[in-house]
Amino acid sequence: MKKLISVIVPCFNEEEALPHFYREICRVSGEMEQVDFEFLFIDDGSSDGTLAALRKLAEGDRRVRYVSFSRNFGKEAAMYAGFQNCRGDYAAVMDADLQDPPALLPEMLRWIEEEGYDSVATRRVTRKGEPPIRSFFARRFYGLMRHISRTEIVDGARDYRLMTRQFLNALLRLCEVNRFSKGLYGWVGFRTKWLEFENQERVAGTTKWSFWKLLLYSFDGIVAFSVTPLAISSLTGIFFCLVSFLAICFIVIRTLLYGDPVAGWPSLACIVTFIGGIQLLCIGILGQYLSKTYLEVKNRPIYLVKESGGEEDDRDR
Ligand code: UDP
Ligand code: MG
Repeated sequence: MKKLISVIVPCFNEEEALPHFYREICRVSGEMEQVDFEFLFIDDGSSDGTLAALRKLAEGDRRVRYVSFSRNFGKEAAMYAGFQNCRGDYAAVMDADLQDPPALLPEMLRWIEEEGYDSVATRRVTRKGEPPIRSFFARRFYGLMRHISRTEIVDGARDYRLMTRQFLNALLRLCEVNRFSKGLYGWVGFRTKWLEFENQERVAGTTKWSFWKLLLYSFDGIVAFSVTPLAISSLTGIFFCLVSFLAICFIVIRTLLYGDPVAGWPSLACIVTFIGGIQLLCIGILGQYLSKTYLEVKNRPIYLVKESGGEEDDRDR
């Protein structure tokens, strides 16, 4: 029996890009006769005609299935839903906007089947077409992560990858609410082959990530994969304790030797506000971890499904 590849596609307001994507994935899958395909679209609470388009696709093609969320839960939730609902021996995650070229699939499959890799990941080597300020901050983020996290998080890594069932099952065991896939992929380990490609522009529609959303997402990544900020705030605390101790000794000795002329209150005011600032910063860092812990402890579902559709499984798995 042929192996089955599940192609998982998170879609959020991708009405315009979907037809292009579907055409391309059909072309690529047509060329890969050694495997069967399943296309699992996750509608992440779109407000345009994405769901209607998916219903139509599912009617016309029995390889198409879809899951539609009750609201927008974010791409991470959509990918997790894809992992949970796919049935393939292999699973691939890719964007609906053709920024992750489906044409790489045959090569990815070859690396897994012939070279024995557990997953084949992609990274883009250029950031052509991206706003420079976004590239700048993205680079800083990956540089920072390299220093403060033990999990490998690769610069320019896309979420686009093909993985084996074993790798997928490992990912499914990580059911945290605060999901940061680029880190989760690295955390589970296994052998991963990296393919590189040039950045592609979106075929249609617009990006769903504002600068603000990306910034918050980077905090998610840091909190999920590093406790270094906590260590830094503790070290800062220790440092200031030492400094203040030395300062106290100095002042006591100076007062004993030279008396106590009242002077220097501006410097005192500066020190008080500076220390106050450091304290607030450290409480803020602590708060970040606490808030994520709070969200995990509540243990709310990662997504809620409103509707799903497509052919029922006729394979005996
Ligand atoms: N996406 C999603 N939920 C969201 C935001 C994005 O499912 O809340 C999907 C989107 O439809 C696309 C993929 O995630 O298929 C990547 O999004 P986008 O192209 O906007 O991001 P970019 O490529 O600009 O990083
Ligand atoms: Mg995109």
